[in-house]
Amino acid sequence: MSQNATAMQDMDIDLFLSTLKKEVASYRTPIVDLVEAQTRDPFKVLVATIISARTKDEVTADVCKRLFEKVHLPEDLASLEVEEIERLIYPAGFYRNKAKYLKALPEKLFTLFGGTVPDSVEELLKLPGVGRKTANLVVTVAFGKPAVCVDTHVHRIMNIWGYVNTRTPEQTEMELRKRLPQKWWLTFNSILVAFGQGTCRPVAPRCYQCPLEKHCPQIGVKPGRAPKRPRRGDGEAMRFISWNVNGLRAAVSKGFLESFAELDADIVALQEIRARAEQLDPKVRNIPGYHSWFHSAEKKGYSGVAVYSRLDPLKVTTGMGENGPDPEGRVITLEFPDFFFVNIYFPNAGRGLARLDYKLEFNRNLLEYLKALKEKKGVVACGDFNVAHTPIDLANPDSNEGNAGYTPEERAWMDTFLEAGFTDTFRMFNSEGGHYTWWSYRFNARSRNIGWRIDYFCVDSKSRNRVAGAAILDHVTGSDHCPVELLFKKTG
Ligand code: SF4
Repeated sequence: MSQNATAMQDMDIDLFLSTLKKEVASYRTPIVDLVEAQTRDPFKVLVATIISARTKDEVTADVCKRLFEKVHLPEDLASLEVEEIERLIYPAGFYRNKAKYLKALPEKLFTLFGGTVPDSVEELLKLPGVGRKTANLVVTVAFGKPAVCVDTHVHRIMNIWGYVNTRTPEQTEMELRKRLPQKWWLTFNSILVAFGQGTCRPVAPRCYQCPLEKHCPQIGVKPGRAPKRPRRGDGEAMRFISWNVNGLRAAVSKGFLESFAELDADIVALQEIRARAEQLDPKVRNIPGYHSWFHSAEKKGYSGVAVYSRLDPLKVTTGMGENGPDPEGRVITLEFPDFFFVNIYFPNAGRGLARLDYKLEFNRNLLEYLKALKEKKGVVACGDFNVAHTPIDLANPDSNEGNAGYTPEERAWMDTFLEAGFTDTFRMFNSEGGHYTWWSYRFNARSRNIGWRIDYFCVDSKSRNRVAGAAILDHVTGSDHCPVELLFKKTG
């Protein structure tokens, strides 16, 4: 019996889809569902669905926002020239063809259906730019009627599971009409689109984080590899972790203590703990085997840093001493016999860059502080720097030019910092883009890896030869940042 035939017999579609329904609840809502939820307007759902073909969801979202400022009714669309529609829907895929279809759409709607969007697949197929996928999706999303909408994600994933064994989306649609329980017809497309964009991607699917890994036959799949973690090397190197936990109490409710144990680090530096030590559960404050120190902001529930260490430091200090005040709980330093370990939570430049000046002042003070430390002994400086240094350090550099975290001023400070003799350790091992440490909670950004690399481990020039490895641990969840890691040799 073939692998496919076996898989088709064993397949429990209810188990698969109900597991994924829970899994994708935290993913971004597919754009067409979003348009429906926001507008409750079949005409706008139809237009958004036509635009969304072969177009990334975030592009469709931008385009629809722009277009729907001008277009509320079919008459509005009819009044626009093709060139103007092209301008409005650029850079959607095949925008020239789509502009022609959209220009022709109102007339067809009026002549065939009296100006309203029909609610059956057969009728929708008579409209320009509407294929089976679009028609099925509009019927499901705009009218809440069961239909079998098969796009490339659905076609691909159903074949990976062996639920169908088909060559084209059309064949998949016909198979699913026969086999898929009707109770899933309204929802399975949204579930599989979100899952296919996030975890079960077309290239290198993230099977290592998939809740179906144990059940999935993975037909024809070459799974992506879990992110590599450098080897420590028989006790020669210490493992240091830096992690912005985005609220330590919230992180604890998302499995922080389990992650902490798995990280198995000698020092763990946390930023943005947003709590005073006394507000923390004793089992968080005092993790067995570690000393811990907390430096909180004067303002409650804001900022704050903490360090846990298996190693016994000579001294622990908070703030930057004479180099500047630290009322926001942003710096904590552990002094060891042969190096300083400095945990820093840099300010965010803020909405509208309202805090850019504050941040630049902090940065200048901090650099003076670190320069003074490195005159005495080696320095390991880590934390959330709140800046993406170069275009390869964020997914969308062009559209973020001048935004908080990617202003010329913040990036210039990073240049100055590196010119002062510090090294960004991750770049000692990896010079590629696509490696990020922070992702917005919106738009399913993390599973689509639309992120920023803003968390760093840096060392002074004397300590470079002690760096044995550096990594981004993007498989560790529980915050909108992931931990970053440094392996630091015990001696130089
Ligand atoms: S195990 Fe891999 S191939 Fe199977 S559904 Fe999950 S991500 Fe896709």
